[in-house]
Amino acid sequence: MKTKRLYYTDSNLLAFKSRIAEVREEDNTHITILEKTAFYPTSGGQQNDIGMLNNIEILDVIDGDEILHITSSAVGKVGDIVAGQIDFDRRQKNRHQHSAQHILSQAFFRLYEFVTMSVHLGEKYGNIEFDVKDISSAQLQKAEILANQVIRENRKVEVIITHTDHLSKHNLRKPPMRSGEIRLIDIDDFECTACGGTHVNSTSEILLIKIISTEKIRGRVTVNFLCGEQALNDYRNRFDISTAIAKKLTCSVEDIEAHFDKLIENNKTLKRSITTLQKDLIPSIIDKLANEVELFGDLPVLFAEENRFDKNLINQFSLEIAEKCNGIAVLLYNDKIIISCAKSVEQHAGNLAKKISAMTSLKGGGNKNIAQLGGVTSTDFDLLKTKFAELISEGNNET
Ligand SMILES: [Zn+2]
Repeated sequence: MKTKRLYYTDSNLLAFKSRIAEVREEDNTHITILEKTAFYPTSGGQQNDIGMLNNIEILDVIDGDEILHITSSAVGKVGDIVAGQIDFDRRQKNRHQHSAQHILSQAFFRLYEFVTMSVHLGEKYGNIEFDVKDISSAQLQKAEILANQVIRENRKVEVIITHTDHLSKHNLRKPPMRSGEIRLIDIDDFECTACGGTHVNSTSEILLIKIISTEKIRGRVTVNFLCGEQALNDYRNRFDISTAIAKKLTCSVEDIEAHFDKLIENNKTLKRSITTLQKDLIPSIIDKLANEVELFGDLPVLFAEENRFDKNLINQFSLEIAEKCNGIAVLLYNDKIIISCAKSVEQHAGNLAKKISAMTSLKGGGNKNIAQLGGVTSTDFDLLKTKFAELISEGNNET
């Protein structure tokens, strides 16, 4: 038995009654087939409706000649009359997104002959895949302007049930994929396509269409868009964020970008001058730290925690201090251990790092003069100090 689709002719219908034609139970889920339904099943890139059947929550609606309503408990038995209630918010979002998609598809087709290959109307935004390699920002803007003009013109959206033999009087955007009885969605003198989805009654209901991004997938371009409530919410969020940033920068929203560019430039200048100052500081810090050297046999080793230097300077600092001590420098720098060996020392920094890796879960390596280990904590560093004698006592570490 074919389920009669009530949403085909009335996408505003949210409450309905129908007789149960069949019930099934599979893997702890209950399947109800009704004689007629207003629930839209997932198909054509549009999500299914959600809502209630006899106050039992609908988990999924599956397409086919018979539309399957999936619930976790039984809705009733064959012959019972059940009451269906469609969730308004989800239906509204689907109607807005689907009509917005038809308008955008037609806008790109009219302006540039871009053909819509696939459509996905998602939870957060909708997207359309076009059969083109590239879409310029000027083209995106022009299509968006045309789409919003169609919204403002408040064009009537009509459902036409006809037959594929009688399509010549309709200006279809693309030929239908099946023959026989066919449902067309006609947007007054602008767009007409065969479609089974739920749509608005007139274009002004969509409020607004905003293209938010594009992606290149498999040599085609996908255009992501917002519309209706979702576009308004997005505008509200962006407005709040930009207003808050403008307040912090004490400028107008229009000047945010210029102020931000200036901040980035200032930041670069500051970094450069800090690096210069740090370079000047290296000799005096080295002199101070050189007094803290410990002797392992006759090998001088310096353990120090040093977070003051920029990451571009720390290696230079580490090598210089090892030379100054004429031994090994082991520095804890943020979450890294940096081991440097003076040229005159027989120990090999990279091999020491390998030995530490084998003893701990720390990962790293390096060459004769300098090596690094990552993901280090202060506890690891303290442990390393206690085990260091053991590490260097095992003979010459040169490769
Ligand atoms: Zn459609």
